[in-house]
Amino acid sequence: MALQIVHACVNCCACVEVCPNEAIYADTPHFLIDEAKCTECLGEYADPQCAAICPIECAIVNELGDPLNPPGSLTGIPLEKLIELGLYKAAA
Ligand code: SF4
Ligand code: SF4
Repeated sequence: MALQIVHACVNCCACVEVCPNEAIYADTPHFLIDEAKCTECLGEYADPQCAAICPIECAIVNELGDPLNPPGSLTGIPLEKLIELGLYKAAA
């Protein structure tokens, strides 16, 4: 099991230091997670530490592609409002 960092990442570096397994590294165009090292923090923390500190929604996803911090989860903006403003496209 491993999480992934995807295109929404803004390369802020916040997640690098909190990873207990040194699984996160800088790359282009954005940081990445070494899937061989990522344990999803199981056995060490109650929650994945990278997602807990990441300030950007949808930057870190699980194996199913589901974001750990989904749209509106950090800003408090309702999903309907994000869609109305054109800031988020619902899956078809
Ligand atoms: S889930 Fe935990 S082990 Fe995996 S990259 Fe994030 S902080 Fe590191
Ligand atoms: S904390 Fe989030 S936005 Fe910052 S580098 Fe890590 S994944 Fe990217």
